[in-house]
Amino acid sequence: MLNLEGITTRKGRKFLIQYVHRILTNEAYVTRHYFNLRDSRTKKLKPKECWIALKTPRIVSDIEFNAVRDRLNHNHPLRTAPRIVNSNILLTGLVHCSYCNSRMKIQTGKSGAYKYYKCAKRADGGNAVCTGCSMRMEKLDDLVMNSVLDRTLAPNRLDELLTPLVERANDRQKLHRDKIRSLKSDKREIKNQLDVLWQQIGAKDLQLDASLKSYIEKMQRKYENILRAISRLEFQNSTPLTKFSSSQKHSFSSELRTRLSCKEQPKFRKSYLKSLLSRIEVSEDSIKITGSNMALANLASNFVQAKKLVPTFEQEWRTRGDSNA
Ligand SMILES: [Zn+2]
Repeated sequence: MLNLEGITTRKGRKFLIQYVHRILTNEAYVTRHYFNLRDSRTKKLKPKECWIALKTPRIVSDIEFNAVRDRLNHNHPLRTAPRIVNSNILLTGLVHCSYCNSRMKIQTGKSGAYKYYKCAKRADGGNAVCTGCSMRMEKLDDLVMNSVLDRTLAPNRLDELLTPLVERANDRQKLHRDKIRSLKSDKREIKNQLDVLWQQIGAKDLQLDASLKSYIEKMQRKYENILRAISRLEFQNSTPLTKFSSSQKHSFSSELRTRLSCKEQPKFRKSYLKSLLSRIEVSEDSIKITGSNMALANLASNFVQAKKLVPTFEQEWRTRGDSNA
């Protein structure tokens, strides 16, 4: 997007993904800039205690900076708990004990022939810590997968799920666009006012006393807040949701079914499932599956646009649609 808009780096080059990553993770924007990172001889990174911190002007709030960092960590397959992303176990990271909320982990039965999902607290601390159940891996995998295939990806059901979402999202995007327009006009107005003030101060028509200074700072903060609000709304509007024809819905559903059912490709299977579901809670008598309808809609939208299935890990749009298996 930066390159399309003709924005270049300080050196006039095009933006590469590495540069964007460096900017998004640079603590200098939240007032922390470090020196003395590397040994001048060996070029090796020194331990963080040896770094020298310098306070820089704040450009981004801590909240936003941390939100971006969490998001990057979450999205990055090499950073998000590799054991979860890389594990071929279908439901690790998704499945939780409904008694104590802790994750369920895989344990092998005494004979070694079967694997079980078991509450991690119970597995580590015994029955005194949690009485949550354990369940055969194949059994739980099949139950969850069948529920997704039958309940969510059945063509009629897909219709019910997607149509209202697409309509709502389109309405919301329209509202966002209006809001962005009005924010941009506010932004221009404040910018003009500030320009006039600075001109008057420059020409010595106005004296920059304490009260004027605090007024300008207030305007500046308002200006920055508006900028932030605009970029947030533009980001939210950047995923267009398409209306789906019934043939598109049909091919999306059959493509996704094929991927989800393909046991020979456990990693793909898992990544698609993870892009649809956010949580599974297990007790002796119930399995509660929570998914994100919006993630489903985004996946379908991407499929229609890209003509192929791309797993997404969009968490921000989550709407909780429960379906009990
Ligand atoms: Zn438990």
